[in-house]
Amino acid sequence: LTEAEQAVLDRIEQENIQFLRLQFTDILGTVKHVSIPASQAEKALTEGIYFDGSSIEGFVRIQESDMRLEPDPDTFAVIPWRDEKSGEAARLICDVIDATTGEPFVGDPRTVLKRAIARAEDMGYTLNVGPEPEFFVFEKDENGRATTTTHDAGGYFDLGPKDLASDLRREIIFNLEEMGFETEASHHEVAAGQHEIDFKYDDALTTADNIATFRSVVRATAELHDYHATFMPKPIAKVNGSGMHTHLSLFTEDGENIFHDGDDEFGLSERAKHFLGGILEHAPAITAIANPTVNSYKRLVPGYEAPVYIAWSGVNRTALVRIPAARHPAASRIELRSPDPAANPYLAIAVMLHAGLDGMEKEIEAPDPVRENIYKFDEEKREEYGIETLPENLGQAVDALEEDEVVQEALGEHVTEKFIEAKRQEFQEYNLAVSEWELDRYLEKF
Ligand code: ADP
Ligand code: MG
Ligand code: MG
Ligand code: MG
Ligand code: MG
Repeated sequence: LTEAEQAVLDRIEQENIQFLRLQFTDILGTVKHVSIPASQAEKALTEGIYFDGSSIEGFVRIQESDMRLEPDPDTFAVIPWRDEKSGEAARLICDVIDATTGEPFVGDPRTVLKRAIARAEDMGYTLNVGPEPEFFVFEKDENGRATTTTHDAGGYFDLGPKDLASDLRREIIFNLEEMGFETEASHHEVAAGQHEIDFKYDDALTTADNIATFRSVVRATAELHDYHATFMPKPIAKVNGSGMHTHLSLFTEDGENIFHDGDDEFGLSERAKHFLGGILEHAPAITAIANPTVNSYKRLVPGYEAPVYIAWSGVNRTALVRIPAARHPAASRIELRSPDPAANPYLAIAVMLHAGLDGMEKEIEAPDPVRENIYKFDEEKREEYGIETLPENLGQAVDALEEDEVVQEALGEHVTEKFIEAKRQEFQEYNLAVSEWELDRYLEKF
């Protein structure tokens, strides 16, 4: 046993843990669990736990389905809420190993991200990622099904008695902190029932794990109070959707932020601008991963603080990338504003990292920053500035992914193929559906 593995066994003993939830994520970003009794912990840590991969979305075909979960001992966390019957539980996030070859499984999103991280490490860099996930909390109906009735009538930063949600949010934050999160800010969002909780940036793998954990904690805590929390990007038409702005910077092994340059107008180094150039160049294909649902594209429309145009800016919150004002060198970063919280965090961070590194390797020049409100530009002006738009729907985003070799390489062949297949089908099903809107509009008219 390594020191970290022994530490896990010690904590299981000290905290009287009875069950372990072994957690991993499928290609579409759904968190999966295998529960084992704590007595199996040592075996799980040393030999791994075998499971049938064919039952997991996008994993493998039946005939090659032997998979092994290898828990990452650094991810041990006691689950702070518990159901009295099952006793104390803890979770461990796992890597998925192909049991036939003994190699990390190419279809495991965590493996995909680790590959991106290794590429950055070869160049001497560590990626730091700070996410700002937003979500809605809704009431349930008498049958226990989620509604879109918000549980409050609050507004942005509204902390008065109207914010019935602040107790729930406090409890979510408490649970997150119990699980090792350092939350930086939390507030009520623009829309009723909508919240944002920002947690401190960390290395790419830790943050991807954190995002997966965050979603479970939010949903489970809301559930305990009979509310439904959702990370669906645009649950209510004509109301701000839920995004997950993602802050990125590269540090050296010595912890120096290579994105920082105090002499630059935006505090950004040449290398940061190349990274930015890569992100903008690959933005259409990144969108397929960062905005992976039909519904994601109902958020990416003008007028609701979500980006539409492929451009960057210092302060302007209508651009795809914003450069937040940094008060000290460690805080120099770029903020990608398109991702939404339905994205698979491992894949989304992996493609952003590869795109940025591609920009650095090829020294892709970022275009000039935009200093005006792009929503107000007409087509002519956008053409003059050379500003392209993000894909308008899931179909266009998948088209962009099919044309982008850098992003495909980031995902690897297996994930690219499975992802495109699943998303083509999702988009086709959507196109075949007849919506309420169509019935309202046409049924009586024609
Ligand atoms: P906004 O103004 O867009 O709301 P916030 O201040 O809420 O931005 O978000 C800040 C996020 O950026 C936090 O998650 C924070 O930890 C993260 N962050 C700060 N410095 C860095 C950095 N150097 N690299 C990556 N993320 C960072
Ligand atoms: Mg914020
Ligand atoms: Mg926000
Ligand atoms: Mg760690
Ligand atoms: Mg932001």
